[in-house]
Amino acid sequence: MLQIGLTGGIGSGKTRVADLFAARGAALIDTDLLAHEITAPGGLAIPALLEAFGPACLRADGAMDRNAMRELVFSDPAAKARLEGITHPLIRQLTEARAAAIRAGGLHPYLIYVVPLLVESGSWRARVDRVLVVDCSEATQVARVMARNGFSQGQVEAIMARQARRSERLAAADDVVDNEGPPEALPAQVDRLDQMYRTLAGA
Ligand code: ADP
Repeated sequence: MLQIGLTGGIGSGKTRVADLFAARGAALIDTDLLAHEITAPGGLAIPALLEAFGPACLRADGAMDRNAMRELVFSDPAAKARLEGITHPLIRQLTEARAAAIRAGGLHPYLIYVVPLLVESGSWRARVDRVLVVDCSEATQVARVMARNGFSQGQVEAIMARQARRSERLAAADDVVDNEGPPEALPAQVDRLDQMYRTLAGA
């Protein structure tokens, strides 16, 4: 099955673009959603998180406290490594199980993985046939995430500083969706890529 890795900086519009592909019949696996799933109340990562970080890493409802963990790993590289040592293998297992089910189902012409840090992670690039980057200017990213999450400009810039630069992502891209403009500019771009991916997939 043809496998596409969709990536882009925070706020670039990955989710929006991925939804347009899904509406055209692509299978989607969003690794961010899997990360939320395993750290939700009763999630697969919760027992190991509790053991590694103690009850302070959980909220009252039993979900991982994302804000507390974000702050912790920001200042403590060893804690970051421990957290990723728990979550990354679980995300990988779930990703592989879902991909196997999608392939077995035979309903989709191709499979898109949504991977925010694809360019940053060594292993992902080798696992996909093509890298699709959703691109916009850094100023637009900041404005969108401030509006979406209620973060300050400084908070958004701190997150962006830990991600690849725009130029690095573009250098890794086989295909690009330009999302600097209005949402109305997206469907035609997605249609064109969907046609190309169907052709490449022989579907
Ligand atoms: P990502 O998944 O890359 O973080 P999203 O798809 O969630 O990005 O988009 C970030 C925010 O910007 C969302 O609130 C979304 O509705 C908005 N957005 C995305 N694309 C556009 C666009 N072309 N014009 C205006 N707002 C957009």
